[in-house]
This record gives sequence, structure tokens and C-alpha cells, in this order.
Amino acid sequence: TRTPFIAGNWKMNLDHLQAVAFVQKLHWTLKEAGHEPESVEVGVFPPFTDIRTVQTLIDADKIPFALGAQDLSTKDSGAYTGEISGQFLSKLSCGYVIIGHSERRQYHAETDEVVAAKVQAALRHGIAPVICVGETAEDLEKFGASAVPVGQLEVALEGVSADADIVVAYEPVWAIGSGQAATPDQAQEVCAKLRAVVASKLGEDAAARTRVLYGGSVKSGNIASFMREPDVDGALVGGASLVVDEFAAIIRFQK
Ligand code: 13P
Repeated sequence: TRTPFIAGNWKMNLDHLQAVAFVQKLHWTLKEAGHEPESVEVGVFPPFTDIRTVQTLIDADKIPFALGAQDLSTKDSGAYTGEISGQFLSKLSCGYVIIGHSERRQYHAETDEVVAAKVQAALRHGIAPVICVGETAEDLEKFGASAVPVGQLEVALEGVSADADIVVAYEPVWAIGSGQAATPDQAQEVCAKLRAVVASKLGEDAAARTRVLYGGSVKSGNIASFMREPDVDGALVGGASLVVDEFAAIIRFQK
């Protein structure tokens, strides 16, 4: 059985001071609601400049949240101005790093090969990659929902070992920030195909263990319908992860 994972991708929102207020408030809101930390893994993915601050807070107050970054370099060190190494992230207790988000693919021209190199970089430093895949509206029309994300994941998993700790996130590009989420049926269909890719590349054990998330306009009002699907193990949440009460309600989807 896979522990559900609810991950908040803050994107380029919340500076380090706002991050402190947000994480404290989320922690207290969940505590007050009687939320059991073992039932759902909560992850926050702040901008790089917040990570040290959030790490210190999580550590000092024993807050049961996982910490992750939104990207990393393919390289470990050297003359790469502006890049952030997985080495640095692992020293800041980042357990996860988002890789291949559609906004990186779109605005920073990240190819499937770059994504694969970043997956390798994360794994070299003991960080679990949250590998994002998904089709655009145009892809959906031309190829259907699953062909593009399946192809993206196949490349991303090239050379990954069977015991690697990874997370897969299916984020249809047309559903991101649009208010137009996929239906639970659509999400299930693609997530099942992505799990089959994990099975064929890394084996059945890995496929049974790996969490496959859905992302794209997830809210407190639709999370339960996704979580009822057998191959959806959680959510990668953007906009709704920036509002404490809303994100807390998503985390408490069973209630
Ligand atoms: P929204 O939840 O704002 O649609 O964003 C989804 C996303 O891109 C998470 O990575």
C-alpha cells in the first residue's frame, strides 16, 4: 500500500518570510483539525531562496512535512552560472525535487533528454525526483491523452535502477491553472498507463511502490474524486497549495 502524497508546488510565489507564516499556519491548521501525519505525506516545494528558511522551521518545530525543490541542475558543480546543484539541495534536507514541470519544458526549453539528466542528478544525491509528464491541448487532440506522457516517462526513466525512489506526476498541460481539471476517469486511465511504464522499465515491485500523482486544477472540491481512483496516489497542487485552508482541506480529503 502506498502512502498518499499531497504536494504543494508553490511555483514563483511566497518569499522566505511569507513561507514561514504559511508553513506555521498550515501546520497549526492541520494539528487543530486532528490530522494524523502518518495518513498522508505532505510536501512543500518552495522557491530556492526559501528552502533554507523552511528547512530550519520544519526542523525546529518538528513539522511533519517533506521538503522539495522545484528544479535542479543536471550538473553537480562548476561553471554553470545561476544553476543549483542536487548536492546543495540534499544538504538542505530536500527529499524531493520536481523535474520536468510543463512550465520548465515550455519556458526553459527542457527536452525529455534534459529531464532524464536531471532525474539522474537527483538520484545521484539521494533525492527522489517528482517526474512531471503531460500532454498539451494540441497533443490531446492529435494523439489522445496518454501517448505523450507515456513517451516522456519512458525517456525520463532511461538508466534508472529498479530500487530507485521516484514519484511520477501526471499533469495535463491544459488542466494546469485553467480551472478545468481532468475527470477522475481520464486521470485514472493515464496514471494506470504511467504505472505500466514504471513496471516495464523498473519492474513490478517498483510499479507497486511508486506513487503516481495527478496535477492540474486540484481543489478541495475535487480531490476526493481523484483519490478514489486506484492508480492515483496523490496530487501535485499549484494555486490551491498557496491558500492554507484550501490546501489543508485537500490534505484532509478523506474527511
Ligand atoms: P494548478 O493546481 O494551479 O492547476 O497547478 C498545477 C501544477 O502545475 C502543479 O505543479
